[in-house]
Order: sequence, then C-alpha cells, then structure tokens
Amino acid sequence: MAVPQNRVTRSRRNMRRSHDALVAGNPNECSNCGELKRPHHVCGACGHYDDRQVVAVTEEVELDEDAA
Ligand SMILES: [Zn+2]
Repeated sequence: MAVPQNRVTRSRRNMRRSHDALVAGNPNECSNCGELKRPHHVCGACGHYDDRQVVAVTEEVELDEDAA
C-alpha cells in the first residue's frame, strides 16, 4: 500500500485546497417568467428557451400507493 513519504502540513494542504471552493454561477433572468436560470439552458421553472416552450411543465404528479 502506498504510504506518504512526507507529512503534508496544514498550510500546504490548505494551499492545495485554495482552488476547491465552489463559485456561484452566472444566472440570467428568464425572459418568459423572470425566474433566474442558467445561461444557454432551458428555464427550470417554465420550460421555455429562446422565448418558446420546449419542455412541458406539469403539475405535481399524484403517485398511487397501491400501484407498487
Ligand atoms: Zn422561465
């Protein structure tokens, strides 16, 4: 089994992790509903892209407990 040859100090470990932080996206407003959406992606709220409906949006689906 591989064993580390040298101890990594808190400082070096933290320096390595300095690039690991998540950064916020660059959200745009949906031109249809105004919800924030990712650029070049279908709006998750209304299913519009480029001012037309591309994904049907349905109401909450009722799952039948006895079906399974
Ligand atoms: Zn939308």
